[in-house]
Amino acid sequence: MKIKPILISISLLISFHIWAQKPTTDIIKTKNGTLQIQPILHSSLVLTYNNKTIYVDPYGGANLFKGLKSPDIVLITDIHGDHLDFKTLDAIDTSKSIFIVPKEVSNKFTKKYGSEMVTLKNGQGVHRLNFFISAFPMYNLPEEPTSKHPKGRGNGYLITVDDKQIYISGDTGDTQEMRKLQNIDIAFVCMNLPYTMDINQAASAVLEFQPKIVYPFHYRGQDGFSDIEAFKKLVNTKNKNIEVRLRNWYPAN
Ligand code: ZN
Repeated sequence: MKIKPILISISLLISFHIWAQKPTTDIIKTKNGTLQIQPILHSSLVLTYNNKTIYVDPYGGANLFKGLKSPDIVLITDIHGDHLDFKTLDAIDTSKSIFIVPKEVSNKFTKKYGSEMVTLKNGQGVHRLNFFISAFPMYNLPEEPTSKHPKGRGNGYLITVDDKQIYISGDTGDTQEMRKLQNIDIAFVCMNLPYTMDINQAASAVLEFQPKIVYPFHYRGQDGFSDIEAFKKLVNTKNKNIEVRLRNWYPAN
């Protein structure tokens, strides 16, 4: 009779243990190697290719990055705390990192970070360590002076890794530029209100630019999490060929 509560507490322990771990690393074969994708938290992820690591919007504290190689490249999309997080930047080793950021972000730095600071405007790109990285528009619609993300301040990113094209949306509305993207292999697309898109806008945009794989991320909004299962359904009902990868972007830490 006492077995049930014991079993329940064991399974709770196990699930807590799994929940507290990093989301699993995804491995994607490229023409000449393998790309590893490690979701971290909300907006933050780590890409590894050829023993080089790119940290995107390192955020949420150094613990989340334990066990990962220090960043060779740090990409930051915007000035808000869930993208530009000095607490995390100060706690990880960025001494040899190349920072690639929008001008408005570099203006916020009060001391030297990294070995090099590259500022990119929307549309500009740069080659570093065999990656080509270009800045892509991210902004809210309608465009208003009070907008949370005015056009030109932040950068989404396009990253070429070997033969793969990766798109990182940053915090964006449902823009024409995103809809016109072509040949995207892997897309990370935001969906949270009132900051970016709802799942209908995000699904509609994804159905138009048709990435091979899409990760919904940045989906914690003012009223909790967006329904990423429903997003997947919206996409796959109309196009089964787009692989929607649902991952736990909010592990307990
Ligand atoms: Zn954000």
